[in-house]
Amino acid sequence: MKVVRTFFLLLAGLAVFATARAANSAAIVILISIDGGRWDYLQKYAPPTLNALAAQGVRAERMVPCFPSSTFPNHYTLVTGLRPEHHGIVSNSMFDPAMRAEFALGNHPGPRESRWWGGEPIWVTAAKQGVPTACMFWPGSEAEINGGRPDRWERYDWKLSSDQRTDQVLDWLKLPASERPRLITLYFDIVDGAGHAFGPDASETREALLVVDQAIKRLVDGVHALSLEDLVNYVVVADHGMTEVSADRRIAIDDFVDPLTVQIDFSGYLVGLRPRDGDSESLYKKFHGTHPHFRVWQREDLPAELHYSANLRIPEVVLVPASGWLVLTRQKIADQNHDGWTKGGAHGYAPADPAMSALFVASGPAFKSSLVIAPFENIHVYDLLCTLLEVQPAPNDGDHRLAFQVLRP
Ligand SMILES: [Zn+2]
Repeated sequence: MKVVRTFFLLLAGLAVFATARAANSAAIVILISIDGGRWDYLQKYAPPTLNALAAQGVRAERMVPCFPSSTFPNHYTLVTGLRPEHHGIVSNSMFDPAMRAEFALGNHPGPRESRWWGGEPIWVTAAKQGVPTACMFWPGSEAEINGGRPDRWERYDWKLSSDQRTDQVLDWLKLPASERPRLITLYFDIVDGAGHAFGPDASETREALLVVDQAIKRLVDGVHALSLEDLVNYVVVADHGMTEVSADRRIAIDDFVDPLTVQIDFSGYLVGLRPRDGDSESLYKKFHGTHPHFRVWQREDLPAELHYSANLRIPEVVLVPASGWLVLTRQKIADQNHDGWTKGGAHGYAPADPAMSALFVASGPAFKSSLVIAPFENIHVYDLLCTLLEVQPAPNDGDHRLAFQVLRP
């Protein structure tokens, strides 16, 4: 009897040892987003930490966002591999005709409601396959999606500094190996904020990028102090780029249609309209061929390369302004004038404009070194994350081409 018990204790001990070893040797992925981090900021503003990571690892010439090149649609594409028409976050603000409900950012409940989020984000894919996860902010991380949530997550608070966000990630990395997250997201917003307020060429935008770069240095140094550098892979992305806008490049919706006769789901860099009388054909005709600085389509006729038709949350009539132009109601233009708004930056435009492209840097033991790759679409990042974590991806619009290019054999 005693022998048997000793045998089982020994087995149990071996099992614990094996589990600890597996957890210790398993790669950690830190997915970092620099919101509004345009691809050329790496050269233009020379952030030292990002460029050092790129030199040790991999950098893309640029990463091409999905349309619309806005924040929520693309952050959610990065973690699902699905285009917005497939994951359902078709805009930062939108209307669902079946649910008769609106989605918006800020204090709106939408971002925390399961019903808006389709597909399967990487933290759910990972958790289903036994990988502990944690999100230091990410669009979608505050909602239960497909029955899952990150093991650890934080309610979005823009006031939390870049260093505070980094320190939270480092605190998670200090957990015992059995509890330590192996997938961590980290989100920085100040580069986008400065880009909107001052434009992509402003010294304020450069300053914001250097603050984020310093926070990433704090992370890299912290990982080193924890002796985890042989396990940690960094994947640094942005959701989109940024272009200059101007008070001289605004078009009033009211010049074409009475705003009271349409439901405006979104406007500005992209306009989505639903006719209150249901006649989308005649609404379309009111805009078609009228102005050189926007194009208009009915939802089902949008160009195939935009991949922006297959979802009823996309309004019946969509205006796509030329890059750097804004199409707004006269009221919104008046509000901007009242606020003294004259210029700044915007994004959301068609991905064919390179100014909408994002940065991509990846570094760590899994990555090749000193490699620069050609532009690629951000739908392939999800497969890369799955490969790094050795988990099976959920069905998605991307494929293995990025992982194949950037990972060591
Ligand atoms: Zn953004």
